Amino acid sequence: MQNGTYPQDLHVHTIYSRDDSAVVPAQTPELIARVRHAELIGISDHFEHFADREYDHYVRHLRSLDLFVGTEVDGAPSVGFAASLAFDYYIYHCRDRAEDYRGVERLLATGRPVIIAHPNALDTQLDCLPPECLVEINNRYIWRCDWMQFYAPFKDRFRFVISSDAHQPQWLGQSVARRAALELGVEESLLVNELGKVAVTNA
Ligand SMILES: [Zn+2]
Ligand SMILES: [Zn+2]
Repeated sequence: MQNGTYPQDLHVHTIYSRDDSAVVPAQTPELIARVRHAELIGISDHFEHFADREYDHYVRHLRSLDLFVGTEVDGAPSVGFAASLAFDYYIYHCRDRAEDYRGVERLLATGRPVIIAHPNALDTQLDCLPPECLVEINNRYIWRCDWMQFYAPFKDRFRFVISSDAHQPQWLGQSVARRAALELGVEESLLVNELGKVAVTNA
């Protein structure tokens, strides 16, 4: 490893998540790039907070800092627009309803990686998801469930990624999520090759 403590963190918010009250003003892309808490870092701001007015700027800004360009999409209503804009990957809020599960298919059809965000916090039924999804072990939420009970039955069905879901600089950690992954016997999938191939370059 070079600078990063962690191999990968693809779920990080910045000030582009402007309507999220947990984000602090210091949480800029520049600070994330400077701290470099992981080798492979992607920013995943809330799609609904910036994409309509600031998509081009967002992509250019993150690229200039050598950060991957993701976004966190809040369920079926946003999927059509989100799939029409290029991102390196999607993080997706999939609540337990048919239209949200259909949204997964639409995002997968873009050919970009689709990461199911903190399913234990949204009551996502993992057996309703296609195995092409990546499932997140999220440091902010993993401890709010019995992770063995929730995830263990599916550990051979999906690939998994470990994320901080940081909204503030001191949240740039993954220690609880990594403990859960260790207990589950899950090896994190590193997306370095997949992301490198698809990198959005509209800058
Ligand atoms: Zn979320
Ligand atoms: Zn998030």
